Amino acid sequence: MPNMSKTKVPVREQEPLVRATNFDEVCYGYNEEEAVEEAGRCLNCKNARCIQGCPVNIDIPGFIRKVTERDFAGAYQVISESSSLPAVCGRVCPQETQCEGKCVRGIKAEPVSIGKLERFVADRAKEDGIKPEGAKEKNGHKIAVIGSGPAGLTCAGDLAKMGYDVTIYEALHKAGGVLTYGIPEFRLPKDKVVAEEVKNVEGLGVKIITDVIIGRTITLDELVEEEGFEAVFIGSGAGLPMFMGIPGENANGVFSANEYLTRNNLMKAFRDDYDTPIYKAKKCVVVGGGNVAMDAARTVLAQRSILFTVVQKLSSPPVQRKSIMRRKKASYSTFSRIRRRSSLMRTTT
Ligand SMILES: Cc1cc2nc3c(=O)[nH]c(=O)nc-3n(C[C@H](O)[C@H](O)[C@H](O)COP(=O)(O)OP(=O)(O)OC[C@H]3O[C@@H](n4cnc5c(N)ncnc54)[C@H](O)[C@@H]3O)c2cc1C
Ligand code: SF4
Repeated sequence: MPNMSKTKVPVREQEPLVRATNFDEVCYGYNEEEAVEEAGRCLNCKNARCIQGCPVNIDIPGFIRKVTERDFAGAYQVISESSSLPAVCGRVCPQETQCEGKCVRGIKAEPVSIGKLERFVADRAKEDGIKPEGAKEKNGHKIAVIGSGPAGLTCAGDLAKMGYDVTIYEALHKAGGVLTYGIPEFRLPKDKVVAEEVKNVEGLGVKIITDVIIGRTITLDELVEEEGFEAVFIGSGAGLPMFMGIPGENANGVFSANEYLTRNNLMKAFRDDYDTPIYKAKKCVVVGGGNVAMDAARTVLAQRSILFTVVQKLSSPPVQRKSIMRRKKASYSTFSRIRRRSSLMRTTT
């Protein structure tokens, strides 16, 4: 008999006033009892709408059923059939619009907390030393992957499980892409989660070579003609920030979120034992209203800025032209007013 509670089992988190002052992970996740109780809310639907909402079609009722049976290793195996990064996805996937957005329990009550359950299963597997299973036999075909962000890691992991000999080339000195340089520690811990997921992909036999810019250090032609790769997957991401093209964007104290977050996350500017310079403004305005803006805003807050505002520039989905012009004007005047005396951060990456 399923647990018919209308609400999710609450997840433990750091207190808001405490977490605003540090970079430690905000959410503590479920413990075993909480996970089993929440898993009991799943109806194990025959036509599971949650699977349709998952971009990689994880067998969600299948893994949740294993959690109710306390077979956490089995739950991990079910997830691993479809996903190479469960500890990451359990933390930062937008479940509210994907799997949980489709969950049938969400029609009359709160949906099943699928993301928190996925995170629990992945963290538990790590504690228990359980790893994803690689291919039994190699097929002898060489594939190169450019970029070690979630796209590159996932592609490499899936190909390795199918027996391919995969090498990832990464331009930066650390693997992970946005998981490493963009999303802050308080949402996605680097050593505890990202580095471990990268290790799991390496454990499948994937080689990762850092500090290599494909197109500069080695060309695509060289990869194919000299290194013997039969195919190349390009997962180079969208790392370049998009600026607004308005006066003052080059002023001192104006940063793209990309630069600001990279200094903080990849180059560890928030830690006293690192020398990476970072701009500590007394007042700061963040332009934007999505994940990137929130990450930048929250990072600024933890740097103890006094005034703190988030400005949403354009609504999404696109609005009528007239409205866009109105909003552009509004954001321009806000920009003009603040650029003389404050730091401004642009977050549309
Ligand atoms: C601050 C921030 C927060 C976000 N939060 C979320 C979230 O909460 N949930 C969510 O679902 N999405 C989020 N996103 C979006 C998500 O991170 C991206 O959609 C995702 O990272 C794209 O993955 P990717 O592998 O394509 O690219 P990336 O993560 O950008 O990785 C590309 C990699 O390729 C490398 N590379 C580029 N060119 C070369 C080259 N020539 N040679 C070798 N290597 C190269 C780069 O150095 C990089 O490591 C966020 C993005 C940002 C910036
Ligand atoms: S839709 Fe919701 S209740 Fe149904 S199987 Fe998926 S998680 Fe369980």
